[in-house]
Amino acid sequence: MAALLVTGGAGYVGSHTVRELLERDEHVVILDDLSAGHVVAAGGAEIVRADLAGPNIARSLDEVLGRESFDAVLHFGAKAYVGESVEDPEKYYRNNVGGGLELISAMVRHGVPALIFSSTCATYGNPERVPIAEDHPQRPINPYGRTKLVFEWALQDFEVARGIRHVNLRYFNACGAHERGDLGEDHRPENHLIPIACEAAMGKRAHLSIFGDDYDTPDGTCIRDYIHVQDLAVAHVQALEHLRGGGASASFNLGTGMGHSVLEVIDAVERVSGKEVPREVAPRRSGDPPRLVATSEKIRRVFGWEPRFPSLERIVETAWAFKEHFPDGYPND
Ligand code: UDP
Repeated sequence: MAALLVTGGAGYVGSHTVRELLERDEHVVILDDLSAGHVVAAGGAEIVRADLAGPNIARSLDEVLGRESFDAVLHFGAKAYVGESVEDPEKYYRNNVGGGLELISAMVRHGVPALIFSSTCATYGNPERVPIAEDHPQRPINPYGRTKLVFEWALQDFEVARGIRHVNLRYFNACGAHERGDLGEDHRPENHLIPIACEAAMGKRAHLSIFGDDYDTPDGTCIRDYIHVQDLAVAHVQALEHLRGGGASASFNLGTGMGHSVLEVIDAVERVSGKEVPREVAPRRSGDPPRLVATSEKIRRVFGWEPRFPSLERIVETAWAFKEHFPDGYPND
């Protein structure tokens, strides 16, 4: 069986996908610089430590891809903070565009025919209509979203010129943790709503800041489409089967189609944990659209994908269980 290269496979969504692949007896090689990933999250898969934006990346990729046959790359390795991308666009263009290009060039050199890309709803920008379908105009409003869109364009162009087929998976709000409780979200520093709300409930933070309560939404807080990380992982496996079966390049949204406000998420954390989430209203965070909700009708139709964790309550249960298991994040890291 041909091998799979998983960039960013020690990171949040990457590690859950690696577990899904290992459970299907796939041969996985991870390429990760461990700037955000965790060795313990890699499930024992080999990790080649390399930085996609580093000076030696072409050599590292040649070494890995040259030693056996690979039939696809799953590309998670990227910088993914909107705020940081505004402050340090160079980091985002170097990693997400420059590093991505190194990866595609190496695939061309070694004849790797397919790539699955972690794209994002941030490529759509401020939605003109909700729910957002794949044919919604892509007009990103921050460097993060722009670098992800540029890479989608690069994939289109390399398919025409070099025949590499691809699937873009545009995630909405990835969240939750593995149902076994031993794999989850451990960003340092943490920026995401659900883990922050859990930390506030545990007393590890003085309070949660609600970024704006004067939006034009029913309770005034932003609405997002929260999708469980294992549901994302399964979609990657389905995309892989599609490409291995000779399927055409395509883009798919990944969300549940249900929107939840910041206050609803806080309520869910309080119900699940049985603890209060201390909170304060803070100014709006720049670049936050009021409402981002997907329609995932296309991936349901084409792949038969169906979320196993469609309810916010169940998602929060898994996130809480992981936090209880590792209150200070992954051990030995
Ligand atoms: N949010 C918040 N306080 C926080 C973190 C996030 O109010 O400490 C809000 C944020 O403004 C957004 C939603 O929660 O409306 C989800 O944010 P997150 O950073 O988890 O994901 P994003 O939508 O940025 O991908």
